[in-house]
Amino acid sequence: MNHPYGRLSYNKHGGITATIEVMKVPEPRGLSYKKNFNIFINVRTVYMSKSIGIDLGTTNSVAAIKKVHTEIIKNAEGEELTPSCVTLQFKKGLIKFFSKENFVVGRHALEWLKQDPANTVTAVKRLMGRSVNDPEVQKIIKSRRSANSIVTHSRGTENSLAIVLGEKEFTPEQLSAKILEKIHRDCEAYLGDDVEYAVITVPAYFNDKQKHATRTAAALAGIKVQRLLPEPTAAAISFGVDNVENDDARTVLVFDFGGGTFDISVLTISGGQFIEQGKGGNMWMGGEDIDYKLIDYVLSRTSEEYEIEDIHAFINDQETQVKNRFSAELKRVVEQAKIDLSDREKTTVELLGLLKDSDGDLVDIDVDLTRDKFEEIIAPVVEGAMGLVKKLLEQIHFTTDIIDNVLLVGGSSRIPSVIRAVKDIFGEEKVLLHKRPMLAIAEGAAILSHRLSDALECPGCGVQVSQSEKSCPDCGFDLDSHMISHSVYDIIHSAAHDYHICLDNGEKYLLIEKNTPLPCERTERFRLVHKYQKLVNMKFVNMVNDEEESIGDLWLGIDDSMREKLYEKWYEWESGSGEGAKEEDSGEKPFDPESPLSVDVTLRIDENNLVEVAASIVELPDAEISKTLSRGKADEKLFIALEELINETNAGDYDSYETTEITSRTIMIISDINKVIDDHTGEVIEPVYELAQRNIETARKLVSEGITCQSLIYYCEHVLQRFGVLIPPGERERINKKKKHLEDMMLRGTYQENVDAYEALDKVFDKSPMISVLMTLEKAVDLCREHEPARSAKFVGAIHSLTSISDDEGKDAVAAKFEKAMSCLPEARELIAKYDNIKAKIYKGITK
Ligand code: AMP
Repeated sequence: MNHPYGRLSYNKHGGITATIEVMKVPEPRGLSYKKNFNIFINVRTVYMSKSIGIDLGTTNSVAAIKKVHTEIIKNAEGEELTPSCVTLQFKKGLIKFFSKENFVVGRHALEWLKQDPANTVTAVKRLMGRSVNDPEVQKIIKSRRSANSIVTHSRGTENSLAIVLGEKEFTPEQLSAKILEKIHRDCEAYLGDDVEYAVITVPAYFNDKQKHATRTAAALAGIKVQRLLPEPTAAAISFGVDNVENDDARTVLVFDFGGGTFDISVLTISGGQFIEQGKGGNMWMGGEDIDYKLIDYVLSRTSEEYEIEDIHAFINDQETQVKNRFSAELKRVVEQAKIDLSDREKTTVELLGLLKDSDGDLVDIDVDLTRDKFEEIIAPVVEGAMGLVKKLLEQIHFTTDIIDNVLLVGGSSRIPSVIRAVKDIFGEEKVLLHKRPMLAIAEGAAILSHRLSDALECPGCGVQVSQSEKSCPDCGFDLDSHMISHSVYDIIHSAAHDYHICLDNGEKYLLIEKNTPLPCERTERFRLVHKYQKLVNMKFVNMVNDEEESIGDLWLGIDDSMREKLYEKWYEWESGSGEGAKEEDSGEKPFDPESPLSVDVTLRIDENNLVEVAASIVELPDAEISKTLSRGKADEKLFIALEELINETNAGDYDSYETTEITSRTIMIISDINKVIDDHTGEVIEPVYELAQRNIETARKLVSEGITCQSLIYYCEHVLQRFGVLIPPGERERINKKKKHLEDMMLRGTYQENVDAYEALDKVFDKSPMISVLMTLEKAVDLCREHEPARSAKFVGAIHSLTSISDDEGKDAVAAKFEKAMSCLPEARELIAKYDNIKAKIYKGITK
C-alpha cells in the first residue's frame, strides 16, 4: 500500500510495517520503534534530493545515477553524451542591452560553432585553473585552434585568464558552470526530482588550482560537490565493481585517452577498496591533438594538389563566414575520418563547395586516407603516450607483470594502433577495452556518489535505507556484504604531484612526494635568512610534467611587539642569574639574538585533495598563519603587487629608514590581504581588497618621496623614553596624540593623510632644538658602538652634560654645557653621514 508520505507492508513477523519517509530532516535517523498491535514504524531520514555522478569532459560530458543499477541520464536532446560546448547567442551590437545572457550548451551550441566560432567555446576544460601565460595556453592562442579571444582577466592577476564573448569577459569556471547547469537541469527533468549533490570527475593530475576551479564551477551551477574524483579512479570503480570479486585482489592500470587529456593511473582493488598507487599522463594530449595533426596533413595534401603556396594564408583570405564554416566543418569531417579508421582500413576526407580561389574556382578538400597513413601520422602521439606509461611504472617501481589488467577508456583508446601499442607492453590477455568506454567514468562517479549519500535504495526491495543500516529493515537484505562486493567501500587517493617549497637560494625543497597516500601531512623546520628579518614569504609549487607550477604563497609578518616580547624573555634569561649559573637555573635559552629565527611549515592534503598550508615562528608562538591554498585570485593579485614593491625596494637605492618603512607597512598589508577572501564563502571582501591595494600604492609613493613614517614613530618613541623628562607634560601629551594619529594613518589613511600626519609630528621636533641636538648625539653614540666604539665617549659626555642641567645652575654654567655639546655636533653629523646611509635590504626568504 503506497502513500505519498510512506508505505505500509506486511513484515516477516506477520505485522504491518509503516515506513514513513521524512524528507530532508537530519534527525532522527534510523529510528525504529514498536507501536501498538505489532505494527513497526520505521521513521527514516531519507534525503529525497538525488545525488549523481558527472564526467565533466573536455569534449563530452556525461551524467549517471546509481540506484540498484547504474544508469546513464539522458539530456534534454535524448543523448547520453552532452557536447561540452558553450555558446553565447546575441543579436549583433545589442549585447550591451541584454541584461541576461543567452547561453546555449551541448549539441545546439556545437551546431552554432559554424556560424559564430568566436563566441562558441569548446574544450574549456583545457583552460580551467590555467594562466594566460601558460605555454600551452599561449600555444592555443597563437595556433589556429581557437577562434575565441583569450585574454588576461581585467580583474585577476597577470596570470589569470578570461574568454571574451560578446565583449564580456568570462572565466573558464563560469563557462564550465554553464555546462554543469545544463546537466543539472536535464538530470532533474529526467529524474523528476531535485538533484543536489554530485561526484564530479577531474583528470588525475589536475593541480590544486584546476580542482579549485572545478569546485567553483559546480558552486556556480548550484551543485554541491560530494567529491572530486580522478577520472581513471572512476573508470576503475565502474570496472572493479562489476569484475573484481570480493576475495580477489587486482592491480589495474587505467589508460584513459580522451579528447583533450591523457590520464594514467595504477590502482589496487580488493574487497571494495580502491587504492591509488600512482598517477601520470599529460593534460595536453588527446584526440584533439590527433585531429590537428590530421588537419595539417589534409591541408598539406590539398595545397599540393592545387599548388597553393601558403594554404593558411589562402584560407585566411576567404570571407569570414566561409572561413568560419570551413574550419568547423574540416574539424568535424577529420574527426569523423579518424573515428571511421578505427573500424575501417581506408576513408576519404571530403569537404566540398566551400573554398574558392581568386578566379572564383572551387578548391575542394578530397583526400584519401588509409589506416596505415593515419597510423604513420599519429605515431609520435602514440609513442609519447607509451613513454608516459613506462615512466609512471618506473616512478612507482612497478614492473609490467605486477599489472593484472589494463583498462582502456576514453574515445581515443579505440584507435587500433593505440590498442596494439598497449598490448605490446602488457600482453594481449591483460588489455580490456571497457564495455562502455565513453560512459565508464560517469558510471564510476555515480557509484561513488551513491556510496557517499546518506540514503540508498535497497537492492532487495527498492526501499530507501540509511547508509548506516547493515541490513534492510524492510526485507532483511544483507546490505553490508552487498556494499563490499558491489560497491565502493573505500578509496585511498594519492597525491597527484610533488609538492615543494622554494628556498631563498632558488632551490626547491620537497615536502610531499607524488603518489603519497592521502590524507597526508608534513611539517618541516626552516630558518629565516637574517637575524632581523620581519617578513617571511613561503612559496609553494607543484611539479607538473617536469614544469614548476605555483600553487600559492603564504606570508607571515613579525611585528615589533612580538619581537619585543622575545627580547624581554631573552633579557630576563640573560640577566636572571649571574654568569655561569645561566644554564643551570634559567632554563632553556629563549632564543639566540645573533641567529635568524626558525619557522615550522606544514603542508596538508586532505582526502579531497584540498591543500592547506600553515607556518609558525618557532620562537614566537603568536606568529602563525594557516590558509587553504588557491582560494582566490584577488588575494594572489595583491600578494604579487606586494612582492613587486619589495623587489623594487631591494633593487633601488634605499637606506634602512626607507626599507623599514616598506617592511612595517608590508606587515600591516599582509594581515589585510590574508583577510581579503571570506573563509566561508570564498568571496572577495571588497573594502579590505581596496584598502590593501591602496596601502601598497601609498607605501610606494611615500618611500619614493623619502617620507618615512615608521622611522619618525621610532624616533618619537626614543625621544619620549630617553628625554621625556625634559619635555613639559602638556607637550608630551600632544606628541603622543600626533604619534597615535600617524600610526592610525599608516594602517588606513590615504597618501595625503599620511603626509599630513607625518608633517604634523615632524614639526613638533622643529620647535625643540635641544631635543634635536640630543637625538643627533644619541644616534652618533649608537653608530659608534656598532662601527667605532672608541669614539663614543665624547658624545656620551655631551649628552650627560645637557641632561644634567638643573634649575639652580647659573647662566654661565648652562652656556658652557651647551657649548660643549654643540662643539660635538659637526663630528656627530659626520659620523651619521658616514654610517647611517648604508643601503639596506628587505629579507623575506627561508633556508634549510
Ligand atoms: P572522450 O574525452 O573520452 O569523450 O573522448 C573523445 C575523443 O575520442 C575525441 O577526440 C573523439 O574524436 C575520440 N574518439 C571517439 N570515438 C573514437 C573512435 N572510435 N576512434 C578514435 N577516436 C575516437
